[in-house]
Amino acid sequence: MKVAKFGGSSVANADQIKKVAAIIQADKERKIIVVSAPGKRHETDEKTTDLLIELAETAIAKQDTSSALNNVIERYLQIAKDLDLEANVMIEIEADLRARLDETYESKGRFLDTLKASGEDNNAKLIAAYLNQVGIKATYINPKDAGLLVSDEPGNAQVLQEAYDNLYQLRDLDGIAVFPGFFGFSETGNLVTFPRGGSDITGAILAAGVKADLYENFTDVDSVYAANPFIVKDPVEIKRMTYREMRELSYAGFSVFHDEALIPAFRNSIPVCVKNTNNPKSSGTLILAEREYSLNPVIGIAADEGFATIYVRKYLMNREVGFGRRLLEILEDANISYEHIPSGIDDTSVIIRESQLSSNVEAAIVSRIKTELDVDDVHVERGFSMVMLVGEGMHNTVGVTARAATALSKQAVNIEMINQGSSEVSLVFGIQQQDTKRAVRVLYEEFFGPQVIF
Ligand code: ASP
Repeated sequence: MKVAKFGGSSVANADQIKKVAAIIQADKERKIIVVSAPGKRHETDEKTTDLLIELAETAIAKQDTSSALNNVIERYLQIAKDLDLEANVMIEIEADLRARLDETYESKGRFLDTLKASGEDNNAKLIAAYLNQVGIKATYINPKDAGLLVSDEPGNAQVLQEAYDNLYQLRDLDGIAVFPGFFGFSETGNLVTFPRGGSDITGAILAAGVKADLYENFTDVDSVYAANPFIVKDPVEIKRMTYREMRELSYAGFSVFHDEALIPAFRNSIPVCVKNTNNPKSSGTLILAEREYSLNPVIGIAADEGFATIYVRKYLMNREVGFGRRLLEILEDANISYEHIPSGIDDTSVIIRESQLSSNVEAAIVSRIKTELDVDDVHVERGFSMVMLVGEGMHNTVGVTARAATALSKQAVNIEMINQGSSEVSLVFGIQQQDTKRAVRVLYEEFFGPQVIF
């Protein structure tokens, strides 16, 4: 049995939904379908989820919601019309949206979650109706009835263990189960969404729950590529990769698959296949526990911008017991998570996501570090990128760092930081943000051969 998840662009309009129906029909093992809300139909389009957030915010600001509501309804109406669906499908969707808007909620977060989730919920109902219309027996599944239990933090749901046992029953369903992505319910019955892009997570949870043989993640690219195709022209396709490699690459900017979605698949050893709705014949990228690595120690190169470092220097820091703990405690108090901590004997840099560091927070942290840790120097620098080489083959290959550093030096890219975890599945270089593209291109050239610069 396979669980197939279709992302926003795969269900953005009637033509795309017809492709989804054909994909389901082409393989009888595709029994459980997870759908996103309608995504972008073209480059400048808006996602339904963003329209819903706009609608929720208009309502919260107590402004007239009619135009924002209309924008959402229009998206479904167009699809329903183009699919020749019966009128009651749209009547239900409209009534559902109005009911969500009219209810009273204990907080802004809950209200936002309920409206955001309607994007996938209504799309699942619509798609189930369409599948039945074309003769594919399909049932819309309500995540509450199915027992998709999650923690109770709005916008940041985490699956609860019981959910997996509850979902197992979906195996027995006759026909196709159409499950909305992106949200579950807490034990007290609140609707809670996963972080953005979270339909991937729903799909992985379902695949683990029903003990699927494969989790197929349908998107709009043929495969995961070795580098960002917007930076490197025609990068090579990755045919097979391990969960760890995918996790590292999605951490550093590969957005093709949500990094949290790997956890349920990985824990239950369910292979994941990233495939293209617009070209389903292409074999896609298979993500597994193990792969054979032969020639190239590097499988992919990722880069992500928006990092800051908190640099701290204190003479004899290495001898001061508890210094690191106290430093990190100051960050913990400010609710800041860190990414890397490269250190010397008398200094250390804590690398964090810049988005966590408003100027007020920065001032408060710097002042506490100065006074409580009695340091010789503390300052914050912004505008860094992390460029990452990823590959299982790196740990038994000599010279990867040397090759990478030489390549970067040829392009005069200054390396501000190097970090390699003991697993050696990734090698991270901290560089100035403005050097990001040059760095990715020269590293790609070094490990994958010449490319056409554009
Ligand atoms: N529709 C949600 C989003 O845009 C979830 C998803 O598509 O995965 O974030």
